Amino acid sequence: MLLGCIADDLTGATDLALMLVRGGMRTVQVVGVPQRAADLPAADAVVVALKSRTTPPEEAVAESLASAEALLAGGAKQLFFKYCSTFDSTDKGNIGPVTEALMARLDCPFTLACPAFPGNQRAVFQGHLFVGTTLLSDSPLKDHPLTPMRDPNLVSVLSRQTHRKVGLVPFETVEAGAEAIAAGFERARDEGVEIAIVDAISDSHLVAIGRAAAGLSLITGGSGVAMGLPQNFRDRGLLGGEDPLRNFAAPAGPAAILSGSCSAATQEQVAMAEEAGIPAYRVDALSLSSGETSAAALLDWAGRQDSSRPLMIYSTAAPETIRGVQDRLGRDQAGALVEETLAEVARGLVDQGVRRLIVAGGETSGAVVNGLSLQALEIGPEIDPGVPWTRSAGEPPLALALKSGNFGAPDFFLKAWDLLP
Ligand code: ADP
Repeated sequence: MLLGCIADDLTGATDLALMLVRGGMRTVQVVGVPQRAADLPAADAVVVALKSRTTPPEEAVAESLASAEALLAGGAKQLFFKYCSTFDSTDKGNIGPVTEALMARLDCPFTLACPAFPGNQRAVFQGHLFVGTTLLSDSPLKDHPLTPMRDPNLVSVLSRQTHRKVGLVPFETVEAGAEAIAAGFERARDEGVEIAIVDAISDSHLVAIGRAAAGLSLITGGSGVAMGLPQNFRDRGLLGGEDPLRNFAAPAGPAAILSGSCSAATQEQVAMAEEAGIPAYRVDALSLSSGETSAAALLDWAGRQDSSRPLMIYSTAAPETIRGVQDRLGRDQAGALVEETLAEVARGLVDQGVRRLIVAGGETSGAVVNGLSLQALEIGPEIDPGVPWTRSAGEPPLALALKSGNFGAPDFFLKAWDLLP
């Protein structure tokens, strides 16, 4: 392993993993703190997906440190702490506390913090974060339910979260290229800065920052700043030029779609799959709650379908319908019931021989991944922006696509299979 990454949420981890694959690194994603480094599949980069963005800081720190331990034991030569490109955090954390703890663990006197991702409309200029043309504090992020971002000056934001001295490597330096940035890091260090916010308003800036960070034991930022990292390892002769997907072998076997997402994009995808004649079973929380249907009944139906084509089991429904059900069962109970059922169905389908699975919904994917006790997923080809096929480690190997609600084109459930070798 060359690069060990810790991401503070699951979709962010996938973004970062995809960025590294594009850069030529064979990448594996691990869901939750890795149990044993020895069990991790061979890869150039490992991305641990935590759910630590808004947990209490002590928890985020403990899980990040435990992940760092496993990554270092697996041989990681550099650590990357990935957070949101809008710097989602509060004055309590968790970006500051986790960065600080990782610095202490690595004995790292200086690191950078760069959430910029110009391709996704996130730019940092003179330390201020812009979302498109608006300052962070004027963007919808100011009203985020968990992490309202009301201050666009990242030096101030991060200073409130850490005891370490925060400084800035400004646009003029970044614009002058990798060497100037590396010299900027040295200057900042001489001035006592321990964490430098780094400006970036274009991909070429991100590449130059990545290059300048070759010698840092810890890098922190959004997935954009990972753009320049693979080349650092290539320059040192540690990474070849082969296609990182060359060994991605999808297991053969029957295919299924499980959808517990009610997002607009998923509703369209489900409708399109039904129109295309994919055998489909619609399940709802009320009939599960009354015992009218059950995971066993769904599996019985699935077992009777033609296994040469994908089948679909979904709880996806329009918001009005869901609201009615939630009023009767309670929102959390209804959600948990559907998630548990789909996770049980996933286990049953695998027992029936299914080896290729699309799961729609962030929470639903989490439940299915837990239900199947999956630890590590090797990243494969990207189906639509942000959603790759993955291959699970362990027995039996599965091809899995975990799609968060609003991702993917309307024909996602139809075309995804074509990408599997
Ligand atoms: P998304 O990524 O679209 O937000 P999630 O899976 O994260 O999807 O969230 C959807 C939530 O809605 C889950 O908790 C799921 O169990 C719940 N849910 C799905 N279908 C139904 C339904 N028919 N009735 C009630 N709750 C549902």
